[in-house]
Amino acid sequence: MLPAVGWLILLTLLLPTAACGNDGNKEAKHDGKPTIAVTYGPLAYLLREVAGERCDVTVTLPPGANPESYDPTMAELRRLGDCAAYFQMNTPGFEESMASRFKALARSDSARVADVSAGIERIEGTHADDSHGDPHIWNSVRNARTIAANMARELSAIDPAGASYYKPRLDSLTASLDALDAEIASTLKASGNRAFAIQHPSLSYFARDYGLEQIPIESDGKEPSPAQMAERLAYAIGHHPSVMFFEREHNPEQAAELARQIGVPLVELRLNSEDWPQQMRKTAAAIAGRKNP
Ligand SMILES: [Zn+2]
Repeated sequence: MLPAVGWLILLTLLLPTAACGNDGNKEAKHDGKPTIAVTYGPLAYLLREVAGERCDVTVTLPPGANPESYDPTMAELRRLGDCAAYFQMNTPGFEESMASRFKALARSDSARVADVSAGIERIEGTHADDSHGDPHIWNSVRNARTIAANMARELSAIDPAGASYYKPRLDSLTASLDALDAEIASTLKASGNRAFAIQHPSLSYFARDYGLEQIPIESDGKEPSPAQMAERLAYAIGHHPSVMFFEREHNPEQAAELARQIGVPLVELRLNSEDWPQQMRKTAAAIAGRKNP
C-alpha cells in the first residue's frame, strides 16, 4: 500500500498517459463493448457466463497472487481506468483499495462501482480482517447464485438494450448452479465426512452451506507461533478431518508437513481461479475422500 503522497505522484503520472489512450488496450475500447473489472477469478467466471458477447471482462488480481499482499502494476491500473464498471463484494483490503483507485482513475463519467454481494448474509468471526464479515464470499455455490443475479441487474443498468440478452443467460447459469449445489450436497452426504483442515480459512461459506466443520491452521491471518501450531494441530487431529487443503499463495511446505502430522491427504485448491465450478467440485470430492472429481 502506498502512502498518501505516493498516491498523488502516481495519479499525476497516470492521468496524462491515460488521456492519450496510449495504453495497449485499444481493442477493448474500440469494439464498442463495455469492459467490466472484477478482482477474483470466480467473479470473472460468473460475469462471463451472464455477460456473454456483450461485455469484456478484466480480472485485477493475477492468478496465484495473494489479495492480502498484492499491489497492482501501473499497466494494470491504467487498464482499470478504462473500464465501464468495477463489480466488487465490499471486501476489505485489496477490493476496497481497487474500488477507490477505480473511482480516481475511471475515464468515463458514467463509470460505476457495484456491490454484487448485496443480499448475501456474511459470516463473522472466521477470518482475521472481517470487519465487513468473512471476505471469501465466492466460495459458495449458493452465494454465487445471488452474485450472478446482482450482476445481471447491474449489466442491464449499464447496457439497457442488453437486458433481454442477459436474462436467459442468467436463467441458464442459475440452473447450472442449482445442479452443482445438488451434486456437491449428494457427494458429501454419501461420504459421511464432515470436517476438513485448511491452512487459511477460505471455505467458511462452503462449510456453512453443507454443514461441515472447517479447521483452519492459521490464527488471525498470521503464521501461528509454535505453541499455537501445536494447539491447532492437536485440535485438528481430535476432530478427524478427511483432508488438508492448501493454496499455493500460502505456505505449501508447511501444509505438506501438517497433512503428514494429521495423517490425511494433502490437496491443492485454486479458489481464486476462473475454473471455479471445478474447484467447488474438487473441494467436495476431496472432503468425501474421492480421488478424481
Ligand atoms: Zn482470506
